[in-house]
Amino acid sequence: MTDIGFIGLGIMGSPMASHLIAAGHRVAGFDVQQEARQQLAAIGGRVAESVADAVAGAEVVITMLPDHPQVEQVAYGDDGILARAKPGTLLIDMSTIRPETSIAVARAAAERGIRVLDAPVSGGEVGAKQAALSIMVGGTKDDVAAARPVLEVLGRTVVHVGAHGAGQVVKAANQLVVAGIYALVGEAIVLLEASGVDPAKGLDVLAGGLAASRVLDLKRESMIAREFAPGFRIDLHHKDMGIVLDAARRAGVALPLSGLTAQLVAAARAMGHGGDDHSALLTVTTTLSGRE
Ligand code: NAD
Repeated sequence: MTDIGFIGLGIMGSPMASHLIAAGHRVAGFDVQQEARQQLAAIGGRVAESVADAVAGAEVVITMLPDHPQVEQVAYGDDGILARAKPGTLLIDMSTIRPETSIAVARAAAERGIRVLDAPVSGGEVGAKQAALSIMVGGTKDDVAAARPVLEVLGRTVVHVGAHGAGQVVKAANQLVVAGIYALVGEAIVLLEASGVDPAKGLDVLAGGLAASRVLDLKRESMIAREFAPGFRIDLHHKDMGIVLDAARRAGVALPLSGLTAQLVAAARAMGHGGDDHSALLTVTTTLSGRE
């Protein structure tokens, strides 16, 4: 049984915290939103009044926040994790953020004897609810070993992918592939419909051949029906494509398809789909083809 401070109890954080409680850990959670705090109380967690309160007695602190400014705020703030957690605490940041922030937080925390892992996830809200996330972990071997019993409560696949920041680079690779597949499945749907071919039958065949993918398995019906309730919001994927392009620039590589896909995601957002599921990329292709 571990004392865990959990910060960020949103779409992903809330079900993750509930699995940790169900596994017997003591969870003290904090979120800036009252509704999220109430949800934690309902599932048996202790509602903390602040970040400092959540991390005060914790052996492990987990953060599941939107983006790097929020992670920096809760890590570096006057009453933040680095100031208030005890030396030896293991901070596992499971948010999707830029790799250089993960590296910087790990360095600053080390000066206070706090150990850090970047451990972003794939699998979405369904994966979080089913404790079936895929978790990519950056940090030292010993810290990953210490975190594994906690991470294995949340996910089925837990892989140590490298040093600090490496988890975020793997997540960036994941996000460019997922967005690209959504864009291409959207193009397939537009082509089939415009050619008078039943897209449901067409995609059934694709899903059984070399073009098979999880996106086709899980989303082809809702895409054809134009049902775009999130899931994973276009706004978050827009953030992630920014991370992808920035990481590519830092690594000195050219990723032309990621660049194009990032523009399609930006277009979906500009067209008012920021709050919709990322499968709403289909609407951009539909509009480009004059088929609204
Ligand atoms: P969310 O917006 O639902 O949850 C984030 C929570 O953090 C919110 O409840 C918000 O109130 C809270 N928060 C923000 N600033 C805070 C602060 N300073 N202190 C305390 N709490 C604060 O987002 P989410 O969908 O749960 O995503 C969280 C992270 O996981 C993101 O980085 C996202 O990219 C990533 N992710 C999401 C999914 C998904 O399908 N939703 C899948 C994989 C990865």
